[in-house]
Amino acid sequence: MALFYDLHIHSALSPCAENDMTPATIAGLCKLNGADVIALADHNSALNLPAAKAACEAYGLQLLPAIEVNTAEEIHVLCYFKTVEQALKMGEILYDHLPIYGYDEAIWGRQLVMDADDKETQCVEKLLTGAVDLDIYDIVKLCQSFGGIAVPAHADKDSYSLLSVLGFQPPDLHFDVIELAHPEKYEAYCKAGLLQPGMEVIHSSDAHSLSMLQENFMLLCSTNPLHQLLGVQTK
Ligand SMILES: [Zn+2]
Ligand SMILES: [Zn+2]
Repeated sequence: MALFYDLHIHSALSPCAENDMTPATIAGLCKLNGADVIALADHNSALNLPAAKAACEAYGLQLLPAIEVNTAEEIHVLCYFKTVEQALKMGEILYDHLPIYGYDEAIWGRQLVMDADDKETQCVEKLLTGAVDLDIYDIVKLCQSFGGIAVPAHADKDSYSLLSVLGFQPPDLHFDVIELAHPEKYEAYCKAGLLQPGMEVIHSSDAHSLSMLQENFMLLCSTNPLHQLLGVQTK
């Protein structure tokens, strides 16, 4: 069954996201807008996924657990998992690999870890948007070791992306799925030798505020590898 999706949404845990991007508010609005499945993908952290899972269950939405990793090369990679627990385990490892320097919320914005009732539950001491000291090859392997699927995020954007950092997709770096800001250009990117052919292309909102949440969703086909991750964590 094809599902309407938004698989790249930041909650208030991401310092660059608005504080009203709470897991419960996101789930409620996405349901209202017509989504079937959403992914909360905060920078280098899974800590708001338990609240997101509870909120999605309450609203009758499927949650695809995710993290948007910032690799050592400063390439953003979406890591998708079957379960929140797998994402949390990967998040713990990522946290250990983040640089240690003081996080000042007055400069960077707040990093809110919340429960399903939008109550703050804990503080995160490191700045989550930094680059981990693991390269993109390490991140793909780590994600796969937890049964996850790694997907280059907004791969054709002009910053923090596969193409902006590396210039093209190296022949030894394979993905089954890629997220593009301009999915209609995929064929042209392949013809130009920038990307490898044969990948499933997804496109999501990358919303950092409620107004950025989309109202027109694309369909996730049952043949998309990400579809295989769904179903375990839902009723
Ligand atoms: Zn990103
Ligand atoms: Zn993002």
